Order: sequence, then C-alpha cells, then structure tokens
Amino acid sequence: MAATFLLLDLFTFTCSKYMEKQFDIIPLKDWLPTDNFPFVISGPCSAETYDQVLETAVQLAAIPQVKVFRAGLWKPRTRPSTFEGVGEIGLEWLTEARKQTGLLTTVEVARPEHVEACLKHKVDILWLGARTVVNPFSVQELAEVLKGVDIPVMVKNPLNPDVSLWIGAIERLNKSGIRKLVAIHRGFYYYHHALYRNQPMWEIPIELQRRIPGLPVICDPSHISGCRELLLPVSQKALDLEMAGLMIETHCSPDKALTDAHQQITPKELGGLIASLVVRQCKGDMEFETKLEILRREIDKMDAELLDILSKRMKIVGEIGQYKKENNITILQIQRWSDIFYDRLNLGSRIGLSREFLLQLLQIIHEESIRKQEEIMD
Ligand code: PEP
Ligand code: MN
Repeated sequence: MAATFLLLDLFTFTCSKYMEKQFDIIPLKDWLPTDNFPFVISGPCSAETYDQVLETAVQLAAIPQVKVFRAGLWKPRTRPSTFEGVGEIGLEWLTEARKQTGLLTTVEVARPEHVEACLKHKVDILWLGARTVVNPFSVQELAEVLKGVDIPVMVKNPLNPDVSLWIGAIERLNKSGIRKLVAIHRGFYYYHHALYRNQPMWEIPIELQRRIPGLPVICDPSHISGCRELLLPVSQKALDLEMAGLMIETHCSPDKALTDAHQQITPKELGGLIASLVVRQCKGDMEFETKLEILRREIDKMDAELLDILSKRMKIVGEIGQYKKENNITILQIQRWSDIFYDRLNLGSRIGLSREFLLQLLQIIHEESIRKQEEIMD
C-alpha cells in the first residue's frame, strides 16, 4: 500500500500539468463496432486445439458485447518446458473461427515473425504483451515491421508500474503510423502475492488516460485477478473508472486449460458476469449535476483549509528544526514520533477515518517533517 501511495504522489504531483501532445489516435468507435457497452474481447489464454478454439468462439459469439476473439499462439512462459503455444497453425483455426462467427480476431505478437504470420493470415488486431512492453528494443522491432501497415494494435501495460514505459511503447507504434491504438490495463507484478495476481494500481491507467486524452483504455481483469472470484469486482471497478471495455479469458473447459486455468471461465459464465455488471452513466441530469457541483465546491473549500493547516504545521516544524539545530539536538526522537503516531491513530479512528488511510497519511506527513528539518540542518 505504501508503494501505491508513493506512486500516486509521484505521478499526481510531479506530472499534474504535463500532457503528451504528439499522439495521433483514431477513436475506438471509428474502427470497431461498440454498440453494446461494454465492449468485450474474449477467448482462451492459449489456443490449444482446433475444436477448443472453435467451440469457445461459437459460444462467445452468442454474447452481444463480445466483438473480438482472442487467443495466445506464442506464449511467453515464465519457465521453459511448459506449454509455449501452438504457434502458426493456430492462425488457421482463428481464420476459421472468424469465418464461422463473424468475430474479429486478436493475437499476441512478440517478435517480427509473429507480426508477419498474423498479417499473412489477416488477423484483425494485434496486441503486445506485458513482457514485451518492458523492453523498448522489442517494441521498436515490432514498430519497424508495422511501418505502413493499417492494423489496430493493443498495448498491455509493462510488468513493472512505469507509466512512461507504457507511454513509450504506444509512442513507438504511433510514430510508425499505427493510429488505431488501445491500451490494456492488466495489473503490475508485485513480488508479494496478496489478493491479486497482479496489483491493479488503478492510478497508473488513470494517469495514462490523463496524459494521452483520447487513448482508449480497456481492462484485463483475468490477469489482474488470477482467479475467477475477483473477475466481477475488478470488471465493475474498471467500468466505474470509465474504461472503454474488457478483455476476459474464456475456455470451453477452463479446468483443463493448459495455461492460466485458475482464471479462465466458460463463455456461459462470461455472459452471466457481463449481465451482472452495473453500467453507470458518466453524467447525470441537471438536478444531479447541480447537487454534485455544490458538494464539489465544499470539497474544494475543505481542501484549501486542509492545505493551509498543513502549511502552518510545516512552518512550526521548521521552527522546531531551527530550535533543535541551535541546541544541537537530533532531528528524530523516536519516542515523540511513536507517541504522535498512536495518539493520532486513535483520534482519527474515533472520528471515522480508516486505519489504513491514517497509517499512510501520518507516515507521509512525518516524512515531510523530517525532510524539512534535514533541510534546516544542512
Ligand atoms: C495473455 O493475455 O495471455 C498474456 C500472456 O497476458 P500478459 O501479457 O498480460 O501477461
Ligand atoms: Mn493468460
């Protein structure tokens, strides 16, 4: 949690006015039929057999929101000697799936040869996986081979929570002339597996959207969750954050899947999941907007007061620092910090603030107080 907070801090405070200017992106609605919101991409983690691909695709085609069929053919596995995908033969299965269902097809490409094979078989959309996006050399190679090709490309976030690296990959493709671009948020690797397989760190796709307005961002709840139970809440959260769509892995027999079995669901279960999603509007009626505006004004006023108090607090911290310096006293007195911490934690809890929030808030105020006193000591 502390890491998330620091990231938020870093992005929001250092880049708040900065926006990328050089992007030329065609809106999603201009190249993809998105009549049934949310727009969903689905299909197996890996294509395994002709029958599995066709059976899954036919079942998915019955769900109106599913517009694109996905399947991994070249699988970037953590360890060798595991199933690494069926390769090029799978492209023929996808061609057949498109012919039988009318769904568009999408495949992960990691090498220029993959791109060439996909273009030869007229795959509709390509995507770059998280393990490729971490490497600018690989992304550049793919961008080179895509020069002058009119094909949509989706870019997953890199494994590590680095918004600039994600933007850099999108930029390389855009500079090569790819204008039908989509970002896919699939969460970020964190060495400690807590609730999620990959931490969502929602602030990062939000920052991406802010930095590149007009870039469609969709969410991949399958790779964030790593399990079936979390797919619904993660999908709902993505919609509530105004994401344009979802990529969810499905398999006609999920338990038998050769990759990512724990997170795959049947097409029927996907239909149920989509039906339970609450689609909220991003704007309400006049009455709603007026009331919202009044509440927002109150928040603005309180934030100004909050900042004023913090500024006054820091001034006193400065005075304390000066006083300590004159008397040759160390900056940190552990006992005082510990007393403050427990006192404020109790005080805040009593007035309804969550412990988690208080822990982060007190920590960040304390760090800034120390930094300020260090400045004075230098
Ligand atoms: C996938 O979509 O199957 C995949 C390998 O995803 P990621 O690149 O997000 O790990
Ligand atoms: Mn997968």
